[in-house]
Amino acid sequence: MLHFINLNLIMAKEIISTNNISKIYRMGSEVIEALKSVTISINKGEYVAFMGPSGSGKSTLMNIVGCLDTPTGGEYVLNGKDVSNMTENELAEIRNKEIGFVFQTFNLLPRSSSLDNVALPLIYAGISRYERDEMAMQALVNVGLGDRAKHRPNELSGGQRQRVAIARALVNNPSIILADEPTGNLDTKTSYEIMDLFDQLHKKGNTIIMVTHEDDIAHYAHRIVRLRDGLVETDLRNENITNPVLEKARLEKVKASY
Ligand code: ADP
Ligand code: MG
Repeated sequence: MLHFINLNLIMAKEIISTNNISKIYRMGSEVIEALKSVTISINKGEYVAFMGPSGSGKSTLMNIVGCLDTPTGGEYVLNGKDVSNMTENELAEIRNKEIGFVFQTFNLLPRSSSLDNVALPLIYAGISRYERDEMAMQALVNVGLGDRAKHRPNELSGGQRQRVAIARALVNNPSIILADEPTGNLDTKTSYEIMDLFDQLHKKGNTIIMVTHEDDIAHYAHRIVRLRDGLVETDLRNENITNPVLEKARLEKVKASY
């Protein structure tokens, strides 16, 4: 079937496109250029890490990419829509539809079950109770927590809590998963669990962007963008992608030899 060509492979679909975006904060007479000029393009299905020293602009860029904030100058096109000049309400709508957030501190509701935490974004999307529960359950099954639907966060391990948060990020079927230091509050062993999950999500076609200041975590991503002083310092394909399964085995071997 030589005539059958997968167009997705030829025409990579651009999901994120920033053109010279800047972000300026004014504090009294002081002007802070958090982002000077950032131009990046990310295609559907990419797995990217944003790195850089503290103060380099990572969070500012994440907030703009995640539609939590708008740039002072330049354009940002998300999934074909120019979101640079949207109002607060328009941004909220885009956010709910296009972005799944994963935070360092999980941000789960402590009194709600895993199922209810995961179903939460669907309430805002106006989906019926029955459908919400079905979709949330499926999302939990997808992160390997089908048997923990009724547990509350304090009845789960740190890694399981983060997996619930990832299920919540995925339940709306967003265009991008944005993870800000997703392993920042986890021990080494649990970090692999989460990186393994991201790996599987990436293989299924999800687009993942994570912010991290840890080199070994960034190396799970397939592309590493380094920021410095509000500019992109380097933007490189990762030639040394860490395989979480092999890495876990390697570390267990190291541990056993002590
Ligand atoms: P990173 O996440 O890489 O540590 P940030 O994006 O948080 O960096 O910050 C970039 C720069 O912008 C820093 O100098 C920081 O102090 C400044 N900055 C960030 N947010 C604000 C704000 N809301 N008001 C004023 N300055 C800010
Ligand atoms: Mg930051």
